[in-house]
Amino acid sequence: MPSRSGILYLVSGPSGSGKTTLCRRLADEGEARYSTSCTTRPARPGEKDGYDYHFLSQDEFAEKIRQSAFLEYATVHGNSYGTLLSEVTEHLANGVDVVMDIDVQGAKHVRNCTDPRIRTALVDLFVMPPSEEELRSRLTGRQTDAPEVIALRMKNALAEMEHWPSYQFRLLSDSREYDYARFKSLLLAERMRVSRLIS
Ligand code: 5GP
Repeated sequence: MPSRSGILYLVSGPSGSGKTTLCRRLADEGEARYSTSCTTRPARPGEKDGYDYHFLSQDEFAEKIRQSAFLEYATVHGNSYGTLLSEVTEHLANGVDVVMDIDVQGAKHVRNCTDPRIRTALVDLFVMPPSEEELRSRLTGRQTDAPEVIALRMKNALAEMEHWPSYQFRLLSDSREYDYARFKSLLLAERMRVSRLIS
């Protein structure tokens, strides 16, 4: 039996906030397992199936819904995204912390989840870009997306940013290192929470 069950570290924020980098680094350092989502969007250059995402067809995604395989799923920027239960529940039961990078709709589903194991495991954080100008320049600088995609992401980002008060924690992005220090500290602190150790 593990000494405590795992923490579900849920991270949201607009694209360009740096959240994926934070989540990946935490996983690369072995502090948490990254929950690889399913998506119907095409892979970007350099993205690997099974690592960045499980890239599925619309039919395959619909089949997963029918099988009740998802903890949550949502349509984001016109594509379907979903978190497989298999990426989360067993790891939590084994005392492994799981980090997930999902949008505000998915976060709402997870927050409203009735499963007590998910509810007690959940720590949710919203990563805010430092300013609208900085967000615009980060989205433009990525250069992997077409201008109309960037425009759509900017519009969605501004709408998404209104949701930060629904989260337990907010990280206002600063430098890469300072962001990561705060990001990791939250997980380390949550591990010491007495209710996690005695429940
Ligand atoms: P991208 O296509 O840039 O990788 O991700 C677009 C958005 O989808 C991001 O806000 C990301 O957090 C969100 N996302 C990624 N995986 C999931 C998921 O499994 N569920 C939900 N609801 N959103 C996701």
